Amino acid sequence: MGRVSDRVCIVTGAAQGIGRAIGEALLDEGARVCFADINGAKVGEVAEANRTRLNGRGGAVSSAQVDVTDRAQVRAMIAQTAETFGRVDVMFNNAGVNKPMNFMDVTEENWNFIMGVNGLGCMIGMQEAARQMITQDRGDDGLRGKIVNTASVASRQGFDNVAPYCASKFAVVSLTQSGARDLAKHDITVTGFAPGVVATEMWEQVDQDLMNIGAANRPGQAMEEFSAEILRGRVAGPGDITGTTTFLASRDSDYMTGQIVMIDGGMTLV
Ligand code: NAD
Repeated sequence: MGRVSDRVCIVTGAAQGIGRAIGEALLDEGARVCFADINGAKVGEVAEANRTRLNGRGGAVSSAQVDVTDRAQVRAMIAQTAETFGRVDVMFNNAGVNKPMNFMDVTEENWNFIMGVNGLGCMIGMQEAARQMITQDRGDDGLRGKIVNTASVASRQGFDNVAPYCASKFAVVSLTQSGARDLAKHDITVTGFAPGVVATEMWEQVDQDLMNIGAANRPGQAMEEFSAEILRGRVAGPGDITGTTTFLASRDSDYMTGQIVMIDGGMTLV
């Protein structure tokens, strides 16, 4: 028995990095998990690898190709999951993108791309998950469902060269607060978590992008500089995040709503 035995969870952005780790940690504690991503082929492989790993110890796996900015696709993913597993207990709005640019060079295209996935994608995911949850019975915890959003240290401070990303992650915080207030009457909670620097493919790309725009001279420099103040003395791996994400999906967090949990090794004390 795990903390999330039999709970039905959807994780977006689950083809790699933090999203994949969230899904796998949920599976390790008995959940039924839909791994969802815009990269359908890759997320299908992730689901398949995990189906093999399950090996009769409970839990279940499915996968979905979804662009979180496309409401019809998000709706279809949620309907498919509810049909397969009977309900949706937890929705992780985790898919996110970044594309660093010097502040004065930021274009409408850069802004719309990042705000589209990180901001609008989060809102659509919240709305459509809630629409499903509202139709469901309350569980024995008295809740119809939980929504968990991925914020960031970039939702606490504006950093240079990533202005639209920071704006989009501030948006995730306010959506979490607004959603918590609005959905409380339906017995749905909304929380979020805020990683600091996590070694994933996203950071590899960000490191490269920062060199391309002249903000760093060598590979790894940006990550080193960005993480110099981490009190725990190192960057995170996805595994540093998942104890908390499984907690947020579990009944142990039932009385929390509207809050963002910082998981940044003490990088920002706000
Ligand atoms: P990643 O780039 O490794 O993975 C992101 C995944 O999201 C990819 O598989 C990608 O295909 C998917 N995706 C992108 N656009 C999508 C869309 N429109 N629809 C569906 N899926 C889409 O990133 P990561 O480091 O694992 O980050 C996951 C989340 O954590 C993001 O929201 C990110 O902003 C946030 N975050 C990351 C860090 C970090 O240091 N890595 C820190 C704070 C917050």
